[in-house]
Amino acid sequence: MLETATGLKTSAMMMKGRKNYLCLHRYHQFFAQDSLLENRGKLLKKRLQAWINETRFGDRAELPWLADDTSLWDDLSCSSDQCLGTTCLYFEDCFHNKLRREAARAKIIIVNHHLFFADLKIKRTGFGEVIPRFQVAVFDEAHNVEEIATDYLGESISTNQFSEFAGDLEKEMKSIPRGERAPFEAGLAALKTQVEHLKLRFDSGEDRGRMDALVLQELRERPGNEIKTLLTALAKDLDESSFKELQPYAMRARELNQQFAMILEPGDPDWLTWYERRKTGLTIHTSPLDISEKLKNLLYEQVETVVFTSATLSTNNTFEYAKGRLGLDETIECIYPSHFDFRSRVFLYIPGDLPLPSAPHFPAAIAKRILAILKRTKGRALVLFTSYHNLNIVHTIIKDKIPYVLHRQGDAPRSLLLDAFRENIHSVLLATGSFWQGVDVPGEALSCVIVDKLPFDSPGDPLVAARIDSIKSRGAFRKYP
Ligand code: SF4
Repeated sequence: MLETATGLKTSAMMMKGRKNYLCLHRYHQFFAQDSLLENRGKLLKKRLQAWINETRFGDRAELPWLADDTSLWDDLSCSSDQCLGTTCLYFEDCFHNKLRREAARAKIIIVNHHLFFADLKIKRTGFGEVIPRFQVAVFDEAHNVEEIATDYLGESISTNQFSEFAGDLEKEMKSIPRGERAPFEAGLAALKTQVEHLKLRFDSGEDRGRMDALVLQELRERPGNEIKTLLTALAKDLDESSFKELQPYAMRARELNQQFAMILEPGDPDWLTWYERRKTGLTIHTSPLDISEKLKNLLYEQVETVVFTSATLSTNNTFEYAKGRLGLDETIECIYPSHFDFRSRVFLYIPGDLPLPSAPHFPAAIAKRILAILKRTKGRALVLFTSYHNLNIVHTIIKDKIPYVLHRQGDAPRSLLLDAFRENIHSVLLATGSFWQGVDVPGEALSCVIVDKLPFDSPGDPLVAARIDSIKSRGAFRKYP
């Protein structure tokens, strides 16, 4: 499209986060396990190996049989923490490295906001980069930039990182004689116990909350001190180990230690330390309340042009609020009216009789209403949820009650679900998270969009509340229309 519109010859590459690509080191490590040498393991390996021989970049989206939420992919892909870098045996053939080499030759690189800011964070340290250098950055859906940039310009540590570290080291230890493993096993067992103590500390109460100086001090003492001592000892033992394959884990232990200690340090008043509890574990974040200066230094001063575009970036016909939050001083601005004829083409229905979203019977009540709507629209609907919890309850209730194909996020990779939804006009897709934006389904297949509740952050959310306090304390609220 771009070539047709501009008449220029160009080349484009799409890059996704590292976890989307198969890691050859982890693939070989995974299939070295004795338990996978029997039939099912052999079949799986054969299937994957046939794909590996042909795939260009090892992108998991090429595997339609792999469910979105499968734990298998976690074992086959790696995060930046887990990557062995130049010490990896497969460094030359590594899919992720191959992708980066090709991206360096492309004129346009397409990435999501998460990868963009993860890269900015790496470039800030001066130790490497993920996305090759660029001169122009264009942000679509730019109303999300503040939220995502805050995640990456802050720091966070999750109990999963400790579990992954322990799990990876345990796997690696299988290659050394049993008798040599004892000191590491004892250290890891003690570390896991302390991480459990940390989780238990936030086991009840709100899922997300602020952490004040008192809580931080308490955590630094216990289990902070114990975790610090254990990781220091493990790093030393791993460093001194005669088994070369264990040595990269010394670096990981040290990095975890530093990250954990830094997050528990008493906070800067312009930052917020807060926790988030999920089914998968506990994450502690420390986030800047205002990223405007950071964006100026790290982004605007480094590239020639930055374009922000979104259907919801202006407030009351001005960009003042967005400009203030994003630190934009010199701008060229335009607001274009929508090309949709909302008055004649859209029917809006807001039920006034449903229970509040916090009520326990809310999911069952909306399931009933969704069924009634689907009957009228003859399927052809995208149903968007703000939580997997509601999505799954509604799916269970309606799955045998509609005569249309019902797709659910997680049952197949996103692109395949969307293709199937586009192709079967009467099908229905239940989704959450990434489906709220950037979905393009032209034509009749998407005749109706149902949302379970508007996805606005609650003003009680720790980060939102702290930002509001910070803006108020500077008297800046009056500035915004
Ligand atoms: S270099 Fe990193 S990502 Fe690539 S195969 Fe090795 S460990 Fe995996």
